[in-house]
Amino acid sequence: MDLSYIINELGEDREHYFNAVAPPIMQTSNFRVRKVDELKKLFENEYGGYLYSRGRNPTADILRKKMAALDQAEDCLVFNSGIAAIYAGVLANIKGGDHIISVDKPYSWVQKIFDQLLPRFGVETTYIDGTRMENFEQVRRPNTRFIYLESPNSWTYALQDMEAVAGFAKKHGIITLMDNTYSTPLYQLPVPLGIDLCMQTATKYIGGHSDTLGGILTGSKAMMKKIFDSEYMAVGSGIQPFNAWLLIRGLRTLESRISRITESTWKLLAWLKKDPAVERLLFPLDVDFPQYELAKKQMKNACGLISFYVKAGSRGQIVKCCENLKHIMMAVSWGGHESLILPRCASLEDRQFDPDNADHRLLRLYIGLENPDYLIQDLDQAFRSSF
Ligand SMILES: *Cc1c(COP(=O)(O)O)cnc(C)c1O
Repeated sequence: MDLSYIINELGEDREHYFNAVAPPIMQTSNFRVRKVDELKKLFENEYGGYLYSRGRNPTADILRKKMAALDQAEDCLVFNSGIAAIYAGVLANIKGGDHIISVDKPYSWVQKIFDQLLPRFGVETTYIDGTRMENFEQVRRPNTRFIYLESPNSWTYALQDMEAVAGFAKKHGIITLMDNTYSTPLYQLPVPLGIDLCMQTATKYIGGHSDTLGGILTGSKAMMKKIFDSEYMAVGSGIQPFNAWLLIRGLRTLESRISRITESTWKLLAWLKKDPAVERLLFPLDVDFPQYELAKKQMKNACGLISFYVKAGSRGQIVKCCENLKHIMMAVSWGGHESLILPRCASLEDRQFDPDNADHRLLRLYIGLENPDYLIQDLDQAFRSSF
């Protein structure tokens, strides 16, 4: 399906709303029915129609159709945050006594689910270095039911070979979930490679304006119905109509934002590589990246986030650099219009800083929609005044 068609037309039914170009926000909690038998049908299968907005809502449905098509998946559910989508995807596919394999250092709140929430129900998680296929085989147990993937990781860009992991999982009846937030469906498609569940945080690139949260989960129709009938309805973590509308609006410009950010990323990458304050950088499609070949094989392109190790002897120098930036803001999240910086050493005390530990000298830059030269100038003045 053509990307332009998906973004501008798919799922929209303009004749039903006065030919308005922008869809209405169906800000309603419930839907009336005229026949008792209609009500009966909806009670039996709420997934099949409109009854109550904790279930289906027409504005959210427009987004669901577009996101399913973008991911080349059969169906989609949209949640009120990325973590809600992950939680539902995991919970729907495990039970007490099961075992999960997760890649090292997934998104921080995912670790909270695995380390604190699920152990209360007798579910154990083993973390592995997902860059090596044999690690999956080594830790698999007879009760392994779920594999959690994030490729690339949003700090180190560590990758997993999606096709290989999906093949391994299918052989052993294990469900796989991929956090695809870094790439978006424009640059990577997990579902056609055999991954069961594809998740992305719509808070990042889909929204694109740092003004709403949302989470996307795509997969087979049967899997989406199963999640809708259990976790989606029972936890009540579905997207609100207004937020769904903001995400549809964000989607309209996804392709042009991603292409602008990609162009700027390559410019910033070239500049950072030559700057004397930078020891080394991490970016999945940089020729020096350890998994460059795999990145080239399974990703169409990469953009937005670059991590780099600065030549700092103290935490104070990194603090100074981040605080001296005039335009690039210090903030969590990413995927919006604004460029951002995050220092890994933020959670350390000054005295804990060890310059021999490269991780302490790691910074992550998100490149937004500003003019790349404007960003380079800002980094240049901050680097020169700090290192
Ligand atoms: C932000 C983020 C999440 C969580 O998304 P929320 O919308 O904040 O819940 C999950 N994974 C990655 C990689 C993220 O960057």
